Amino acid sequence: MSPVETGRRGAAPDPSFAPEPAGAVPVIVSRDLTVGYKLHRERKRLTALRDISLSVNAGEFVVLVGPSGCGKTTFINAIAGLVQPWEGSIEVNGRPVTGPGPDRAMVFQDYALMPWRTVESNIRMPFELQKLGLSKQEIDARVRRYIDLVDLTGFEKSFPYELSGGMKQRVGIARALVSEPDILLADEPFAAIDAMTREAMQGELERFVAKTGQTVVFITHSIDEAITLGDRVVVISYRPGQIKEVVDVNLPRPRFDYDVKSLPEYSELRDHIWRLVKDEALQTAHGAK
Ligand code: ADP
Ligand code: MG
Repeated sequence: MSPVETGRRGAAPDPSFAPEPAGAVPVIVSRDLTVGYKLHRERKRLTALRDISLSVNAGEFVVLVGPSGCGKTTFINAIAGLVQPWEGSIEVNGRPVTGPGPDRAMVFQDYALMPWRTVESNIRMPFELQKLGLSKQEIDARVRRYIDLVDLTGFEKSFPYELSGGMKQRVGIARALVSEPDILLADEPFAAIDAMTREAMQGELERFVAKTGQTVVFITHSIDEAITLGDRVVVISYRPGQIKEVVDVNLPRPRFDYDVKSLPEYSELRDHIWRLVKDEALQTAHGAK
């Protein structure tokens, strides 16, 4: 049985699995994943995510949307190996995730840069944390290439406090990409960036992953960003987060170069996802769950 078939529960079709394109290779497979936290002070356990079954194929761009606190960060932390399943399983390339690894890299919402390190030294960090078998020359060349890619050439010796929000985030992106991971995990990476820079960076990211073929799991609160970037948009319900619906986005690429927002399919998708998310946001506001 393929991993995707084993992810299905019972006889009913599982909405979390999109029809498999021919030759698709599942890279991240979550089966009935339940994860939570022990709240020591209150002596109880909080279930953050429940029964998440999702299969992400090689080269696919999957976007997670849902109200604050629904477990989006928890899900990518489970893929990253930063939290462990309570029930169910999470596999990457056919092996259970037991901890972080060089095949996965994370872009954080709040940049998570080391303030005492320069741009170059922040981007070099993955090579200090993991032995990737590269020579010093190869590492230097890689660091230069990724600084150039995110348009920070000339700022190598700058410290984070000397950079704008957009520039800091580009450092975070270069640091995630420099080890050339198979899987890119991005937690609201553009949330703190001004609207114009944000659109430009969406275009850069789309172009970049089209070139590298990386598999991406991306969290956002922006439905437009989700539709602009995603092959599929996974809508997660209010806590404990469960998959409410997986929406396929079959708009032409590169989307940034086309005016996809003017297509009628775009507004249909937008309305559909907005309705799903709004219902959940209202549950949060009224404390219905
Ligand atoms: P999202 O990213 O969708 O906003 P999170 O995954 O950050 O949601 O959080 C899901 C739930 O788990 C929230 O109720 C949050 O308060 C709780 N939570 C997250 N991290 C921790 C933690 N380290 N310890 C205790 N509770 C946590
Ligand atoms: Mg979060």
